[in-house]
Amino acid sequence: MRLITFEHAGRTGPGLMVEGERIIDLGRALADRGERPAQTLVDIIEGGAAAMNIVRDIEKRVANDSSNQTAIPFSAVRLLAPIPKPRKNIFCVGRNYKDHVAEGARARGAELKLPEFPQFFTKPPLAVIGPDHDIPWDPEVTQKLDYEVELGVVIGTTGRNISRDKALDHVFGYTVINDVTARDLQRRHEQWFKGKGIDGSCPMGPWIVDAASIPNPQDIEVKLRVNGEERQRETTAMMIFDIKEIISQLSLGLTLEPGDVIATGTPSGVGFAMDPPRFLGDGDVIEAEVQGVGILRNRVRRMAHATGN
Ligand code: MG
Repeated sequence: MRLITFEHAGRTGPGLMVEGERIIDLGRALADRGERPAQTLVDIIEGGAAAMNIVRDIEKRVANDSSNQTAIPFSAVRLLAPIPKPRKNIFCVGRNYKDHVAEGARARGAELKLPEFPQFFTKPPLAVIGPDHDIPWDPEVTQKLDYEVELGVVIGTTGRNISRDKALDHVFGYTVINDVTARDLQRRHEQWFKGKGIDGSCPMGPWIVDAASIPNPQDIEVKLRVNGEERQRETTAMMIFDIKEIISQLSLGLTLEPGDVIATGTPSGVGFAMDPPRFLGDGDVIEAEVQGVGILRNRVRRMAHATGN
């Protein structure tokens, strides 16, 4: 099941992709049935299993009824990030694939040393942009813009001090994230938040696939292309810390809530570690893909260095 946030006729709301190039307007479908209203996808995620059962029922009914009024042609809507305005920062794990740690060490002329614990950082809510939205690039801010395809985990139920055994029970679904990074800022500030936190640096989408559709999230491919050229390809089996470990360690003394998103790290093939390094420029089209989830496509767009908004 592919859950989306879409814009149509001046309105934004949660929806569902269905067969036949249509989407279902879930806000309207729920209201028509007299159910608890949902303004956003997070409202549905918070509704838990009960809400998802209703969504599945709606899907079945609409799929069998081509005249259903809550179905809209896909071509008429614009997709936003599935969670376009997260209530908190996106949680991220750095250096979580051995080959990526190795290429980073090589590029910096440093010794290879694998992390003993997950290295967490975050990206702020305004970094989030949707599928086919432009990644803004201001050359006065960064000269070293880079990409990182990552499997995104969306939390479904609240938890703190979550055990490994229970960790996947807290997952609502999966999405694709491009952890766009300004390498020069990342290096200059000696801490990852600034270089990974700029506006538009967290493309997310094109949708969330529910957890039931991905029975083994540790055996799927993540890959990325720039202008059609493959740069990254690896399976999630190669994560240093798997999703269970990430959730368990992140939730230690820290409450995870429905709608929280965790980017689980990127494999090798990033631009800064190439010889010579290859950074992103105006017009570059990036396709970040996670097997069984989808393809997240964005174009880099050069922008003027404006002050204020
Ligand atoms: Mg990353």
